[in-house]
Amino acid sequence: MPEFYSVFAGWLIDGNGSPARENVLIEIEKGEIRSVSDCAEEIRKEKYFLQPDMIDLSGFTVLPSLVDSHVHLTMSGSADLKIRESQQVEGFEDVCKRIMAHLDDHLYCGVLAVRDGGDRNAYTIRFRNSCHNQSRNPVLMKVSGKAWHRKGRYGRLIGRPPSGSKTLAESIYDTDEMPDQIKIVNSGLNSLSLFGKQTLPQFTFRELKDAVDLAEKYGKKVMVHANGVKPVGIAVAAGCHSIEHGFFMGEDNLKKIAEKELIWVPTAVTMKAYAGLMKGSDTGLVSEKNLDHQIEQIGLAREFGVKVAIGTDSGSPGVDHGKAMRDEMEILLEAGFSVEETVRSATSINADLIGLKKTGRIAKGMRADFIVAKDSPLEFPKSLQSIERIYMDGNLMYKA
Ligand SMILES: [Zn+2]
Repeated sequence: MPEFYSVFAGWLIDGNGSPARENVLIEIEKGEIRSVSDCAEEIRKEKYFLQPDMIDLSGFTVLPSLVDSHVHLTMSGSADLKIRESQQVEGFEDVCKRIMAHLDDHLYCGVLAVRDGGDRNAYTIRFRNSCHNQSRNPVLMKVSGKAWHRKGRYGRLIGRPPSGSKTLAESIYDTDEMPDQIKIVNSGLNSLSLFGKQTLPQFTFRELKDAVDLAEKYGKKVMVHANGVKPVGIAVAAGCHSIEHGFFMGEDNLKKIAEKELIWVPTAVTMKAYAGLMKGSDTGLVSEKNLDHQIEQIGLAREFGVKVAIGTDSGSPGVDHGKAMRDEMEILLEAGFSVEETVRSATSINADLIGLKKTGRIAKGMRADFIVAKDSPLEFPKSLQSIERIYMDGNLMYKA
């Protein structure tokens, strides 16, 4: 790409949630956005004459590259139990190959950054430190490594309990794993046989608060797996930075999340996947009801001003890396989010959550990370099924 070039966008969604704009000129210099301005059709023609390097994307929508704030890179979306079991016990080399394949899946779906929610062997950290060839696949990873769960409770598949007589905070402090964020599991899974059944919290308020204080001292955030009123309530009170899943958390918790300006990552697509996989059975029916309930909560969250971030939990049964992003976007639209609000949840809110300052928005001074979808924003998220172009740092990474 030349050092300076401009892009004429038929439509622009800037990632901040503001209404889509039509006919916009974006100027890019040394991989950074220099200006974003409205540009009438006549001016476009004139500019085009003066700037042969201008990329004409009239008829296309330009939006920031996507960020998935909850994935499990070591696992695939296969629903086959045998395959899932073998993926859990494979050695590092095989897992490495799978992580790379999943990062490719993300890249070609326009997801240029992901936050991993944990793996039992901390292979994601090892991969990040020793094998991530970013010149081959530049998708940025923020990894949790091994999550923390209470001994004897859910979480063994993605983590371990605090060691010996040590408290949660002491155990976190004592590891030398260097995760990008701390992942804590504070409830069980959602029941697929009994609608709305809730589990007890795994940790106390004090335990979580000490973990949050410690994380903050070292500039890290805490992402907490929590479903149900009590587990979410404690996590919110302790100031955990993002609530993952949050099924059946209830209105009060949603209001508190908004008040405390925390982030909610509903991962509703997981339940949609279960509903699809188990269709026709009792568990399928409960999954569907769980999904409907979560969609209601997402609608309420919008009303209360909760910052909702799109995370897919891809690597869960039936939830494929990359592709799941569109499904979760579709669910937000169904819950009453506008296209622009949905894109905000998939871009700037996520970028802020995972600490990316130069990406997630199309604005002056930001890095030129953006994707191009066919037609107007009215075709969202279907038009994201085949992304036309992907730019990172102003470089063309992919063209259909
Ligand atoms: Zn997860």
